[in-house]
Order: sequence, then structure tokens, then C-alpha cells
Amino acid sequence: MVGLLRELLEPSADQVEVVEVSPGRPNLIARFDGRARTPSYALEAHTDTVGVEGMVIEPFAAEIRAGRLYGRGACDTKGPMAAMLHALLRTKREWGTLPVTWYFIASCDDELGGSGARALTQSGFFCDGIIVAEPTELKVLTAHKGVLRFLLTIHGKAAHSAYPDRGSHSIHAAGSLIEGVKRLNATFREQWSEHPLGPPSISVGTIRGGDHVNRIPDRVEMEIDCRILAEQSADELVEALDRLAKEAVQDDPGLSYDLIATQKYPGLPAVSDSGISDLADSLAALAGQGDDQASYTTNAGFYSEAGIPAVVWGPGSIHQAHTADEWIDLEELEQASEILYQLIKSTHA
Ligand SMILES: [Zn+2]
Repeated sequence: MVGLLRELLEPSADQVEVVEVSPGRPNLIARFDGRARTPSYALEAHTDTVGVEGMVIEPFAAEIRAGRLYGRGACDTKGPMAAMLHALLRTKREWGTLPVTWYFIASCDDELGGSGARALTQSGFFCDGIIVAEPTELKVLTAHKGVLRFLLTIHGKAAHSAYPDRGSHSIHAAGSLIEGVKRLNATFREQWSEHPLGPPSISVGTIRGGDHVNRIPDRVEMEIDCRILAEQSADELVEALDRLAKEAVQDDPGLSYDLIATQKYPGLPAVSDSGISDLADSLAALAGQGDDQASYTTNAGFYSEAGIPAVVWGPGSIHQAHTADEWIDLEELEQASEILYQLIKSTHA
């Protein structure tokens, strides 16, 4: 993927850099110098897709039927990426030099942890505004929640189930913890009922424990997914979970727990908090669509956290992403490219 992008971009871009984030997982950063060096903007799209298991179409045939292109990644997010590339290369071809400097960024591993976007911001990359490609039906997405994930292990003591007092029951402790999570969710619903993104939430997504019906289980593992608002403190949430785990094991000295944070995707704060960029304003005007907010997370959170005003935008619908017959509407794709072309042309120092 990155090899193809490099071939496509090298003849036109002023610089193309490929940076390996982890073995076999590179980011690509192409720079198109403008007549003015500032401001500078970026178009970003992730190179990875989800898997192809269970698909009912040929995942990589890119078959076109009735104005739609079918395939894995068609809308999440190779279609939006194609619109970005086409717009940049078209402006470059027609104008020779762009009005201001633009970057095209292909990031790796969006679907599994966002390591590409994280590595890019940690490397010191900066610009004055970034558009992150995701299928938003051409609506400018200005806010979304963040994600925190944890692995919680409760350790108990095995015993014959006929002699429960000789053991420490890890699964029963897990039950108390789940009750605590439900109470916390109820508090969130009350506290954040007015929030446009909806209240934050915590979900115990997997639970594994026990090996025999007649044995007191000595270990249970739970994976916990938290959808948090940008204005919430991640530390406070960790403390709240830690408190719930403590309460769940407190009645039995034979019980203990480990709480490990496994993944973190920062949220994208709402417009009023971050101050929308000129770029986002111009994009919204050209796209003729108002602001939108979403429940899913994107790379935009990483850029916003690094101080780069970020919005999410692209052709296609999130409801087609990750599906068994993923497709994108070609007319909408062309429209997206035209809007970006107009946007690039309209930028100035
Ligand atoms: Zn995506």
C-alpha cells in the first residue's frame, strides 16, 4: 500500500518520507510546498482495513456495479483517501505550486490502536489544521468520544465446590464488580444526560474464568471498554474502576486484583472547546453540511491532543464500514474530490 502511494506521489510531491512505526507498518508523509510556508495543512487517511472474514463479496476485486465500488476498504478508508490524493495531484498539475503547504499522510494501524497517528505526533509533526479521512457522508465531524481499555484480573483461591469456605471465589467477586460498573453507568447517564455526544459508558466486553463446575474458580479475566468524553479526566475514570475492583474483593483476604490499561484513544473535543480552525470552516462551507458528532473514535483525537485542530470528513457512510459488502458511492467520491480541490485552491497565507 505504502509502496504504491510512494510511486504515485514521488513525481509530484516535494518530499515523500516513509517512516517505519513497527516492523512492516510504515507511515508515509508527502509534502507539497506552497508559495507560502504558513499556514500548512494536512490530509490524513489510514492505510489499514479490518479483516475480510465473512464478506459476501470479493474483497479485493473493486467491482463497480450501479454506481458503487465494492470491496474491503472502499469506504473505510481507501475511497476517502483516493479523493484526497486526486484533489492534491489535480491542484499540483493545474497550479504547479499550491497556495500554501499541504501534507498527505497515510497512517498505519488505525484499526488496531492508532500507533501510526500516535508516532507521527510524537515525532514532532505539526501543521495548522488536519482533515482525517473517515466515511462521514461529507458532514464535517467536529467531536467524538475517546476510548480507554483495561484488562482486569481477579485472583482467588481454588477449592472443591463442596468446601467453598476453603477457597476464594474470583467469579463471584467479578459479579460484584459488574454490579459496580452498572451503578457507575447510571451515574454517568444522570451526570451527562445533556451532552451532545451522549453520556460516557463502561462495558465489560469479555469475561473468562473457571475450569470445572465443581471447583471454586481461582482466576477471572475481564476486558473493559470505556467510552469517555474529552472533558472527562482519564485518571478519575481509572480511579473509579480501581475503587470498584477494591470493593469487589474487600470481603475476602484471599482475593486480589490487577488492573492494567491496554489501549487509549483520545477523544475529539467539541468545537466550542477547541476553537474550530479556518480550514474546518471553509470545508463545511464547501461541503454545504453542518457540524456533526459521532460515537466512534478516529485518529483525529491524537492530532487534537497534540494541538493540531482536527476534523473528520469524507465520502461514504460509517454504516458501510466493516460490513460484509462494503461499498462506496462513486458520485459521492467524485464530489468529495471536487470539494477538496476547491478547498486546496481557496487556502492562502
Ligand atoms: Zn477508518
